[in-house]
Amino acid sequence: MPASYTRHGFVKMPGNRSVGNYTVYIGAGSNIGNKLANCQNGIESLIKSGGTVLKDQSRFYKTEPVDYQAQDWFINCVAKIETAKNPFELLHTLKSIERDVGRVADPVKFGPRILDLDILLVDNLVVTSSKLVVPHPRMHKRRFVLQPICDIDAKIIHPVLMKNMQSLLEMLDEDEQRIEEYRCAY
Ligand code: ADP
Ligand code: MG
Repeated sequence: MPASYTRHGFVKMPGNRSVGNYTVYIGAGSNIGNKLANCQNGIESLIKSGGTVLKDQSRFYKTEPVDYQAQDWFINCVAKIETAKNPFELLHTLKSIERDVGRVADPVKFGPRILDLDILLVDNLVVTSSKLVVPHPRMHKRRFVLQPICDIDAKIIHPVLMKNMQSLLEMLDEDEQRIEEYRCAY
């Protein structure tokens, strides 16, 4: 069966059937090169890596850099997937996709990157290890994460803070972290 394009351009696997044990929200971001294509290709590579289906995706946003200001704006989005990979296998896959598109060790923490793929939420699991922290430790402070998650489901509960995504979004300072929808034609 042919793959199909969703309204935002990601390839969905045939039938969009369930394969997984885990429902995961992935954040994608890029501020180098063709930022939109980098995000799209990153999600597409993840779906093609096996055992993973795309369930939904957010709109794309043009976002102001947050932790390190002296860099170009980002394009960000969030994808909801189901996957048979456990969170550590998934992290391994994401890191190899980042490397494949040409990401090298970041000279500046939170600095420019061709592609960043982060695990935001995995069901309502809490993971704390040296390599992986879930929920992503900064997600609740980042409009470029919370706004796109709210496109998909504003009512998801953060399993540590026990607040939903909409209320976390409303807790951010209105004057900070500018983002705007990035409209693209398909
Ligand atoms: P950031 O995304 O915070 O800017 P990096 O993408 O450079 O930083 O990731 C640095 C390290 O963070 C990764 O090598 C990974 O081991 C670790 N990490 C911890 N938790 C997560 C998570 N939830 N998602 C992605 N990476 C994570
Ligand atoms: Mg990352």
